[in-house]
Amino acid sequence: MGLDRRTFLGLGLAAGGMVGIGQLLNKLSDTEEDGECMPALFVGHGSPMNALEDNEFSRGWREITGKIPKPKAILCVSAHWLTRGTSITAMEKPSTIHDFGGFPDELFQVEYPAPGSPVLAEQTRNLVRYAPINPDYQWGLDHGTWSVSRQMYPAADIPVLQLSIDYHKPALFHYELGAALSVLRKKGVLIIGSGNIIHNLGILDFKRSGGYDWAEALNPVIIQNLHEGNHRFFIDYEKMGKEGKLAIPTPDHFLPLLYILGLSNKKEPTLVFNDKLIMGSISMTSVLVS
Ligand code: ZN
Repeated sequence: MGLDRRTFLGLGLAAGGMVGIGQLLNKLSDTEEDGECMPALFVGHGSPMNALEDNEFSRGWREITGKIPKPKAILCVSAHWLTRGTSITAMEKPSTIHDFGGFPDELFQVEYPAPGSPVLAEQTRNLVRYAPINPDYQWGLDHGTWSVSRQMYPAADIPVLQLSIDYHKPALFHYELGAALSVLRKKGVLIIGSGNIIHNLGILDFKRSGGYDWAEALNPVIIQNLHEGNHRFFIDYEKMGKEGKLAIPTPDHFLPLLYILGLSNKKEPTLVFNDKLIMGSISMTSVLVS
């Protein structure tokens, strides 16, 4: 299967059966009018402390909310939910998961009480035929999701769902599943990928403000390929050479980007912000496609 979204979605629709899909689309229209295509967002989330701090990164996230319509719901693909198979949170009230250690008590006290949406979870499972998506009633919202959404939408009045990353699947799977999710953009759903494009915790230098030489060399190449819409560069991330191996020693924080690229149209404007390397081996680079 190639990378053309229309071909891919056409196959998905054929596989799903036109009558069934049509009914589902009608069902969605009952509650949510088709509108303009919502932008999609990749966020470099970095430290969980960004949930609390007013800093250049959290300000960058908040500024984005002023540039986009208020979403009807948020679907976040977080680097911190890795599974076998793909799952979507389907509970009414997702809990706030404090999935980290060694941080101040204040961070463990944070609750992000956004509602879930069992209806949207079910609609997503029915509309996206590329891969089975399992309903999940155990997970909730991990810090990859709430550290960002708390800054962007502090009122917590927008339903938030998470989609897990099937960690046993290749890069192309995540890109194409992202393409399949693009139908949700017309339904007012803001899809967020939350990770970090360059992310190597094993060699962090906490005293360093910028990036290591290899990271400073690779980052402009990443940015250029983002602006050029060269998605193949990212799908083939294992071919980025020795800098790539240092930047992406494991793909957990990189894969959320592939979802956002997959569901974007290559002709859409790409806004890159928070483009900064920290502690040697982390990039906070974030991307808005709209
Ligand atoms: Zn993380």
